[in-house]
Amino acid sequence: MGATVLIADDSMVIRAVLRHHLEEEGYQVVEAVNGPDAIEMMRHHRPDMVLLDIEMPGLNGHEVLRRVKADEELEGTPVVFLTGQTGSEQIVAGLRAGAQDYLKKPFEPAELIARVGAAVRTKRLQDALRERSAELDRMSRTDALTGAFNRRHLDEELGRFVRLAGRHADTVAVVMFDIDHFKRINDTYGHEAGDAVLREFTRRVLTVVRADDILGRWGDSVVGRWGGEEFLLVLPQTGIEGAYVVGERVRSAIAGATFAVGSHQVDITVSGGCAAGTKPPTELVRSADAALYQAKEAGRNRLVAATSPQPLP
Ligand code: GH3
Ligand code: MG
Ligand code: MG
Ligand code: MG
Repeated sequence: MGATVLIADDSMVIRAVLRHHLEEEGYQVVEAVNGPDAIEMMRHHRPDMVLLDIEMPGLNGHEVLRRVKADEELEGTPVVFLTGQTGSEQIVAGLRAGAQDYLKKPFEPAELIARVGAAVRTKRLQDALRERSAELDRMSRTDALTGAFNRRHLDEELGRFVRLAGRHADTVAVVMFDIDHFKRINDTYGHEAGDAVLREFTRRVLTVVRADDILGRWGDSVVGRWGGEEFLLVLPQTGIEGAYVVGERVRSAIAGATFAVGSHQVDITVSGGCAAGTKPPTELVRSADAALYQAKEAGRNRLVAATSPQPLP
């Protein structure tokens, strides 16, 4: 896992000397001959650090650094700038602009290697932190039992979809599902069997929902565990009819095949309530809940669409 260093310097001699020392230390080296080239090479090679000359014709090092720091994809790459022996002004300006370090020309090879090494270590630490943070974010949105999204993520996505719907004069649909007589599963086969049913239930719902996703909507449908044996499906750019169709596919995917519970084959059914509109998220969910209640009352294993049409604002 040799690190890659980008050398950006207009002097061929300096590039050759730097390359020589760095390669001796096992670094991969790529070169840029001017400012625009440096940015291009950063995008293309994603180096672990950049040695950036300040005095270059056209786009100088300061300008390159400014663009790098303004670029979401590049700003995390440490930049060590190369400067002539001219005073501390350049150095201060470069550090202020976000350079990690500097190296004065002519440089001592040992100092070059030490500074490059420190910059690469910084990059590696930052990358590890970023990965960890993304992992934590993912975990905080995932239900541990089923691997589906959890309520927190559903709340956020529903809120986002409703805002987008407002902007596009469009609707968002939700379907609230609740497994029928789930308590009986636990009572008859035990809590672990109940857990296994929740996982298989999730797998089937996800299969239906993924198959339904339509390219070009401003978001993918989101399904997650709302709590207990309740699941919420959120459908962007969808009306009540569309929600009913997808909800019905979910219902039949559950009722259509038995669930293996230990050595038993068990019939499981689910009821659902659909709502759509541009109402605030809590009201959409409340409507879907009310419809779900009607589905339960009407005998379960069915879907009910919220009756009152939801007017556009
Ligand atoms: P209904 O058809 O009216 O929805 O009946 P129900 O039995 O499904 O409804 P009820 O709300 O009475 O029971 C829900 C059950 O779900 C009770 C609870 O123990 C069980 N449950 C909730 N979360 C979990 C879980 O994570 N694992 C297991 N095994 N059971 C759970
Ligand atoms: Mg130069
Ligand atoms: Mg319930
Ligand atoms: Mg239930």
